[in-house]
Amino acid sequence: MFSSGLTEPIRWAMTTDFTPNLDIDWSAMLLSTSSSLSSQASNSRLLTEKPSSIPLVIPTKLTMLPHPSESTNPLSSAVSRGPLAISICTAIVRHEITRLKSTDDPTVQAKVMIRNIVSDEVHILGAGLSGLAAATILARSGKDVHVHEIRKDSGARFDGDFQGIENWTGEVDFFDELAEWGFDTNEFKSDAFGIIDLIHPDDVVTHPETDGVAFRVVERGTAGHTIDQGFKRMALESGAKIHYGTRKPSEECDIVAAGPRESSAVAYGEIFETTHRNIVAFQLNDKLAPGAYSYLIIIDGIGLICTCLWRKQRKSGRYLDETIAWYEENYDLNRKPIKRVGGKGDFGLPTKYEHEGRFYVGEAGGLQDFMWGFGMRYAITSGVLSAKAILGELDYEKEIRGRLVPLVRASAINRFLMNRVGDRGFKIVANQWMRDQRRKGDGLSFMRWLYKPGLIRRALWPIVKIGMLRKKVLSDGRVVHRMPFRKPLDRDTWEPSERAREIREEWDSIRKGGGKLSFQESDS
Ligand SMILES: Cc1cc2nc3c(=O)[nH]c(=O)nc-3n(C[C@H](O)[C@H](O)[C@H](O)COP(=O)(O)OP(=O)(O)OC[C@H]3O[C@@H](n4cnc5c(N)ncnc54)[C@H](O)[C@@H]3O)c2cc1C
Repeated sequence: MFSSGLTEPIRWAMTTDFTPNLDIDWSAMLLSTSSSLSSQASNSRLLTEKPSSIPLVIPTKLTMLPHPSESTNPLSSAVSRGPLAISICTAIVRHEITRLKSTDDPTVQAKVMIRNIVSDEVHILGAGLSGLAAATILARSGKDVHVHEIRKDSGARFDGDFQGIENWTGEVDFFDELAEWGFDTNEFKSDAFGIIDLIHPDDVVTHPETDGVAFRVVERGTAGHTIDQGFKRMALESGAKIHYGTRKPSEECDIVAAGPRESSAVAYGEIFETTHRNIVAFQLNDKLAPGAYSYLIIIDGIGLICTCLWRKQRKSGRYLDETIAWYEENYDLNRKPIKRVGGKGDFGLPTKYEHEGRFYVGEAGGLQDFMWGFGMRYAITSGVLSAKAILGELDYEKEIRGRLVPLVRASAINRFLMNRVGDRGFKIVANQWMRDQRRKGDGLSFMRWLYKPGLIRRALWPIVKIGMLRKKVLSDGRVVHRMPFRKPLDRDTWEPSERAREIREEWDSIRKGGGKLSFQESDS
């Protein structure tokens, strides 16, 4: 329905060969100092897409046992045929209890078992990307799918902000993977990028680039061209029923796709009109974005400046004001503010992804990138895997552990290292990224390398678990090792610049005139 509005020709060759660069010295990153370099001009350009011919590897492991909720219902037909039927029924019950070995609670076991055996209904909590992806696959396979969403619409958690779907955690272009799963990527607008402005902490700008697609920018929210509405349309067309504005206990659902619960980090952004051309800029800066990064995305005359806070702050709006001031000074934005947006990220690794017969997907299952917060790919992938598990095509726990957990762990280890450094460490990362690009001729290979488990990261994992994560038992009995929101540091307090003060006053008056603020400190 919506397609990329890009027209320029591109060099296209998605890099599939990847040699991990083991030269990167993380200890140097922790210790070394950075030099002050002068600023360079921005020189970004957009890339259009062309289908990749890379073959897909889709998990197809079949479980030995038919899924009990298939339309030919063994229990109901057995019950109608007398004593023999009862023994068949008992065998099925035993079989179900064995299958549901993830719980110790026989009441819960029985409930889940009965739900699976007596009906074809599947209940999903949350109509975000993960829930809608699962709903579409299940409804297409003939299941009676009900999605229960607390908000009034899909995408209402977001408000017109741009997000990037990354292409570095898999060898396959994610849009090819989506197509293979049966999703139509023309249902929503997307813009592909193979190059960014990488802004180092000392304001030097360099350009990581790839011949293929590094990521695609999509819009989140409730407008027709957003990815959320695209996935909603696909779910509805496949026959899923979505119940908006409803609550349902998670214990009554087969798939929990309810997004983040707590905050490990937050992001604040401003959306504005601009005359600047399309661009994505990514800034590593410990002052403007404590412990994290800020970014500028401009697509077709609409811009987003966002700063991410990986350390909890008071009066956090000042970080956004100062970040906007920085971008204004360095890019010719001609900015006209529309609204302010934001959100929280919940970073944690649960001990189980299938618990008491329920599948935890997307951010509700802790499937989120600790390093940068790129969670959409994990959300959709885990939603698809949960649906396939219900259809009896794979073992969810095994697939998640084999496919996504190593990536999440690698991101957590990287986050642990990043938490230990300030701008000096960020400078080393930025330089290393560019060195790697010069050597290999591809900026994406560094990003891919960051997510490879490797020997050093594997060795670091026990330290990361103890040093960064805190064990928590959730109300549903799951155990999660989560990353708490870190405390502020002394260096996080500074006097705002004159321009940042003006931007604050400008926003205050826009707000008084009806300007929307969809996320603030109290929501985190
Ligand atoms: C500011 C910001 C910027 C981000 N940028 C990026 C990016 O650039 N790239 C990227 O890949 N990721 C990004 N992410 C992360 C990404 O948005 C999430 O990881 C992804 O949307 C998670 O999808 P999900 O389906 O798990 O959860 P969600 O998209 O949050 O969907 C969960 C749904 O469940 C609903 N819900 C919650 N509780 C209940 C309940 N009790 N009952 C019923 N329904 C409920 C919610 O209303 C919501 O609709 C960003 C996140 C934020 C906050």
